[in-house]
Amino acid sequence: MSLNPCDAAFTARLESLVPGVVSVADPRHLTELRAGAVGQAGALARPRSVDEVSALVAACSDARVGIVPWGGGTGLVQGQVMTGGVAPLLLSLERMTRVRMVWPTENVMICESGLTVLAAQKAARDHGRLYPLSLASEGSATIGGTMATNAGGVNVLRYGNARDLCLGMEAVLPNGSIWHGLKRLRKDNTGYDLRNLLAGAEGTLGIITACSLRLFPLPGREATALIEVASPAAALDLLAKTLDVFGNSVSAFELMSGVGLDFLAEKLPEIQQPFSPRPDWMVLIDIGLGQGGIDPEEGLARLYESAGLTSRALVSKSEADRQQFWRIRELIPEGNRRVGSVLSNDISIPLSLIPGFLYRAGTAIRALGPYRINAFGHLGDGNLHYNIFPPIGRKKEDHAQDKGKLTRLINDLVAEFDGSFSAEHGVGRVKVGELEHYGDPAKLVAMRAIKQALDPKGIMNPGAVLRG
Ligand SMILES: Cc1cc2nc3c(=O)[nH]c(=O)nc-3n(C[C@H](O)[C@H](O)[C@H](O)COP(=O)(O)OP(=O)(O)OC[C@H]3O[C@@H](n4cnc5c(N)ncnc54)[C@H](O)[C@@H]3O)c2cc1C
Repeated sequence: MSLNPCDAAFTARLESLVPGVVSVADPRHLTELRAGAVGQAGALARPRSVDEVSALVAACSDARVGIVPWGGGTGLVQGQVMTGGVAPLLLSLERMTRVRMVWPTENVMICESGLTVLAAQKAARDHGRLYPLSLASEGSATIGGTMATNAGGVNVLRYGNARDLCLGMEAVLPNGSIWHGLKRLRKDNTGYDLRNLLAGAEGTLGIITACSLRLFPLPGREATALIEVASPAAALDLLAKTLDVFGNSVSAFELMSGVGLDFLAEKLPEIQQPFSPRPDWMVLIDIGLGQGGIDPEEGLARLYESAGLTSRALVSKSEADRQQFWRIRELIPEGNRRVGSVLSNDISIPLSLIPGFLYRAGTAIRALGPYRINAFGHLGDGNLHYNIFPPIGRKKEDHAQDKGKLTRLINDLVAEFDGSFSAEHGVGRVKVGELEHYGDPAKLVAMRAIKQALDPKGIMNPGAVLRG
């Protein structure tokens, strides 16, 4: 079913319907941060309430005008920018930033979708509670955007991803109706779970306007260790031992490769490296123990001994140490960006198969040429960023034509290893073809039926996740 453009006449109608919310879309809202993809939109709407969102969506539905929801613009798969097709209305939640209510004793907080993750963390902390979602983009990424993409980040191992942190939701469905689902219940088996459907739908089934979020006690004390490991297999052994010792007190278990550390040394030489010479592989372990538990630093030191390790290791002695260790991990993507990858992948693989995958993928890629590979990321979640870089002395532009071939090679292997070609970042518009290629046929039929049932005119985020 074809859509109509968000043209001047329609924009004027929106303005008379909901005064003071519609303006011209500016580059900030139209450009994807990392890839620099530039989208288009007939207008930008910045509603202030769920009723205004509802009125805007109902008008778009009547006129068959597409809507692209916009949170903080930090998505990496062009879900929030539409580079082709009929000009849509861009709908930003940036004015809906209220913390509506906090129940510290229930460990629940209701936030509007435009609130940044960082602001939500602070609101929880102000009540002596933890909102554990944490990702490098948290200063801009929003509650609505992270829920719409079911974002992960560095604390998934202990607290789960965005969907796991959501108890209830308020959303505007594609016909403009409001779903008042802001329950704060942990048990509610009353039919289909719309919350879990909208979480991860990337704005294709409705606009999330507020969420009730799970909070947690603040961790008593936290400690972080950087430990050299001989190989990914050794890192997995250490992960198992760490979980045996600390159980669900392990917040993060991150893998870093020597290649990533080399890139840091090359592009950000001012950053102090933890070990010299640089190791081939290293893990960052973060634990947070409840009040009155064993001392986490002592615990990490004991873990090192009981795991029989002899490699180089650093255990934090202060918050400043922790931050310094994390800074290394968080700067790895920046080092990558400065080198310039031919292809970046955000994959997940069943944990025990990761060493085999890395071996097979590395062998296959090296057979094609002397590419450099930086595999790093949330090992504890089985989620790796598997990034491929041009050989030394060459630029990513020199290898632009290799991208398709490398994508197929990696994603075929991911499928063979029963993994996922998109662990955290979603499908957006970039990976629609991959979903069609690798998605389970029955699941795709069900997804299209759900889309058709909830959004028969196809106005919600056209072309994202499923082809329009
Ligand atoms: C430096 C950096 C680090 C990152 N690290 C991680 C990481 O560790 N883990 C991870 O999972 N991701 C990561 N990301 C990706 C990104 O931050 C997440 O996908 C994030 O969830 C997007 O939130 P946002 O508010 O910016 O949404 P946007 O980018 O604006 O939108 C993302 C998608 O959600 C839709 N959407 C936005 N708001 C709503 C809403 N209210 N209702 C319905 N649909 C909506 C959009 O249409 C789009 O499809 C990173 C990105 C950057 C730039």
